[in-house]
Amino acid sequence: MENSKKIAILGSTGSIGTQALDVIRANPNSFEVEVLTGNGNADLLIRQAIEFNPNTVVIADQNKYHYVKDELNKHDIKVFTGKKAIADVVQMENIDMVLTAIVGYAGLESTISAINAGKQIALANKETLVVAGDLVTSLAKEKGINIYPVDSEHSAIFQCLAGEFHNPIEKIYLTASGGPFRGKKKDFLSTVKKEQALKHPNWEMGAKITIDSASLMNKGLEVIEAKWLFGLKPEQIDVIVHPQSIVHSLVQFTDGSMKAQMGLPDMKLPIQYAMGYPNRIKSDFPRFNFLNYPQLTFEQADTETFRNLALAFEAMNKGGNAACVLNAANEIAVQAFLNDKIGFLQMSDLIEKCLQKIAFISKPSYNDYVETDTETRRVARELL
Ligand code: NAD
Ligand code: MG
Repeated sequence: MENSKKIAILGSTGSIGTQALDVIRANPNSFEVEVLTGNGNADLLIRQAIEFNPNTVVIADQNKYHYVKDELNKHDIKVFTGKKAIADVVQMENIDMVLTAIVGYAGLESTISAINAGKQIALANKETLVVAGDLVTSLAKEKGINIYPVDSEHSAIFQCLAGEFHNPIEKIYLTASGGPFRGKKKDFLSTVKKEQALKHPNWEMGAKITIDSASLMNKGLEVIEAKWLFGLKPEQIDVIVHPQSIVHSLVQFTDGSMKAQMGLPDMKLPIQYAMGYPNRIKSDFPRFNFLNYPQLTFEQADTETFRNLALAFEAMNKGGNAACVLNAANEIAVQAFLNDKIGFLQMSDLIEKCLQKIAFISKPSYNDYVETDTETRRVARELL
């Protein structure tokens, strides 16, 4: 189709990736799939490729390459494998926009590659901005490309800023559901198992971000993500717990006025807004009904119990490679918790120790970030 936006979805087999394909399925005239990539779930990737007929598919896991290639042979779809291939295919000429929905540090290289090739970015992979927000945002500025937030809180802020381009932000409030352990204290948390942590009250997401939500690290990562996306100073960012997840975040302007964006918790809305910007595409998503929510409540985050949020603020204030250390240590900690190797509260201990041990670099280069990530993972594994 002539006027449809051509999209590459990195991480199409995940929670965000599959919901992005739901949006595209519902709007076949607005979007076309150029590239799909996945890692573990080869069968789903094959099914998606057969349905959406992209130009190219990448299966990151090399062991599954021949299987995917054989299955897609008769469909005239190019198949590549390996991490490097993802960074290469995002530069293909036909792509207008890259949706970055890979989880973790693994999404950094392909995002930078896409920006270098001048592609618009719909950014779900928040870890990219946590690890190297200064490099990524200055490169985007240099290349004249926009980064459209997919994260619901950041999409909310972005929507509140529409038409306010010359009005400075005084402050933003990121809302947090509080996760499954809201109100709990350390004695309870010291014995919780992954099955409990994986039950989020309001959102269905991938395993890593679900654990991050339970530990409040997700909100910590989002604070840092917001700093880079909206060019804010640390003291302009606040977090408020809002268990109903209806107010998705708020902006306060210098006249004291506050704007909020609201709606039922459904990631398809921010995904669609990022992909369709500046248009609001008509949807049949369920509508909010006030009478089902007679009360919306707000409370302070408990950073003494949920230390990850405090550690993230600390890393942001410190700057340099500190947030890169925070992120790498957290990825190792979450994996260890999911493998029953450490307890819930020990995740914060591990992150704190890594922040103390890893050498601080005030103005890191790309290679410094890569080395910081590798070194932090090594130290974190040793500490386990
Ligand atoms: P997920 O685990 O469901 O999916 C991750 C995707 O990345 C999968 O397609 C997987 O195959 C691929 N992948 C994983 N490791 C890879 C690697 N090393 N190389 C290449 N591909 C790899 O995760 P998700 O919940 O969809 O989250 C994706 C990103 O979006 C994360 O950064 C998360 O923080 C962010 N996000 C998610 C949600 C949500 O509702 N799920 C909301 C806001 C932000
Ligand atoms: Mg979010």
